[in-house]
Amino acid sequence: MSIAEATNTQNSSTKVISVDAVIIGAGFSGMYQLLCLRDKLKLNVKVIEVADEVGGTWYWNRYPGARCDSESHSYQYYFSDELVKEWEWSQRYPDHAEIRRYLSYVADKFKLRTNISFKTKVTAAKYNDAENRWHVMTDKGEEYVAKYFITAVGCLSSANIPKIPGLETFSGNWYHTGQWPHEGVDFKGKRVGIIGTGSTGIQAIPVIAEQAAHLTVFQRTANYSIPARNAPLTADFKKFAKEKLEQIREVMHTNTNGHAFRIVDRSVVKTPEQERLEILEKAWQKGGLEFRAAFSDVLIDKSANDIVAQFICEKIREIVKDPAKAAILADIDHPFATKRPPVDTNYFETYNRDNVSIVNLRKTPIEKITAQGIKTTEQEYPLDIIVFATGFDALTGPLLNINISGKNNMPLKEAWAAGPVNYLGVQVPGFPNMFTITGPGSPSVLCNMPVAIEQHVEWITNCIAEMQTKGLNKIEATPKAADDWVLEVNAAANATLLPQAKHSWYLGANVPGKPQVFMPYAGGMAHFKEICNNVAKNSYAGFVRS
Ligand code: NAP
Repeated sequence: MSIAEATNTQNSSTKVISVDAVIIGAGFSGMYQLLCLRDKLKLNVKVIEVADEVGGTWYWNRYPGARCDSESHSYQYYFSDELVKEWEWSQRYPDHAEIRRYLSYVADKFKLRTNISFKTKVTAAKYNDAENRWHVMTDKGEEYVAKYFITAVGCLSSANIPKIPGLETFSGNWYHTGQWPHEGVDFKGKRVGIIGTGSTGIQAIPVIAEQAAHLTVFQRTANYSIPARNAPLTADFKKFAKEKLEQIREVMHTNTNGHAFRIVDRSVVKTPEQERLEILEKAWQKGGLEFRAAFSDVLIDKSANDIVAQFICEKIREIVKDPAKAAILADIDHPFATKRPPVDTNYFETYNRDNVSIVNLRKTPIEKITAQGIKTTEQEYPLDIIVFATGFDALTGPLLNINISGKNNMPLKEAWAAGPVNYLGVQVPGFPNMFTITGPGSPSVLCNMPVAIEQHVEWITNCIAEMQTKGLNKIEATPKAADDWVLEVNAAANATLLPQAKHSWYLGANVPGKPQVFMPYAGGMAHFKEICNNVAKNSYAGFVRS
């Protein structure tokens, strides 16, 4: 049945459209899920996307310096050898524009756009018990009625703009990095203030500093950062990445973090001091996220972590010439890599510029924003532009922003009032036939995202394929399986140093009032995949199917 055939008008203002599956979001996950359900399972699928193009997180994050921290040959789909061979990345780390070009190429190649409604916002998604159907309403006055409802809304798509008193009185312009204007921002001759020194701020600061008259960085928590060592890819590397695609895929799909390198099985503490310094120095010179894979005990043994943390802090003090600035930057309160470690291009070097200053908000917190700028407990900083690099209401935010309700009209917000409860990150008890790609409780942000996405999408596709061939109507995670999974997610995090970062967005601690629960699954991608495959093999143990 085509969408056109299935369309009928319920009342003058609502168009009711029957499909097999509705997917929200046209980023990496929504696009691949569409392809699998439409082309493999021959289902009638509608993707709803608020933007006017594909791209997901990369559609919105266009701030200066926005670039992926995963290396380009690993930050792509691996489901199609042909696609891997066709597409050519230009740099070690792709920037936001190149990733959008890639996703647009994928959309064209697989003719995905015909199934996507762009510039359309989902206003509510409600499960109807009697019909066993999802009703997904949009701001275009449509109501999609579907057996399957799949969220592909990303983990970091709900901007966190802190409620600092007085923002509305600011006479200059302000921007959040995750909602960056497409036409860009002209910083020339301007006094700019940036709040936030996470991965985003650390990428944006060096680029803004080159343009602005003066840049003031408002830092609450000092952060580690590893040099990215970005560079154009050589012809040899491009050839290698295509010729060895099977080996690269094998590494990515059988390790902890989904990157194209393995964690070296050696201990920081057991390696003699001189040797370990040489290893760390070599890893620092190579740059990138692989730095943290130079040893296997960095995230599980505090004394190992202290050694690596000290190495990085010494680097900061070496690079930053002004000892007062260096002291603020190296005063880090959490173990290395317990918050997502940024990688940078000239981040610490930027503090050697005369037009860059740093304010330590731990000592002098922001009191308010005034018409002229930012006022801390110490002084007022006059500004023309404020940049909020303040991150996201991660993982749960994008889902809770949609008005979703399951069985007995239970709102997801209520079901998750004390924190996310689901099974394998993919299904919430009481929300039958709803699947959350890379939802909380899955490895998602602790993994190279395209690998996490391909695993979840393929698992969901196989699950739906089996339902279709067996004539099953409904799948629902049991409350017990979900409760046990929450315990497992906690146990996996507690086996590492990750929960020691108290201000981490992994814990939800960056959003005032958000329940503090460690959200991503830290047990490793390969192990997670094995668990999911065993569940499927075991007749979807932990789910009830009917
Ligand atoms: P983030 O890691 O949450 O960092 C937000 C920053 O804003 C932190 O320094 C935080 O300080 C600060 N902040 C928040 N609210 C504040 C307030 N009220 N007052 C003062 N400071 C405040 O966000 P992000 O940098 O956007 O990064 C989020 C994630 O996106 C990353 O961890 C990464 O997974 C992903 N990302 C990836 C890439 C990439 O691949 N290239 C690039 C950017 C982002 P506290 O630490 O004290 O809370």
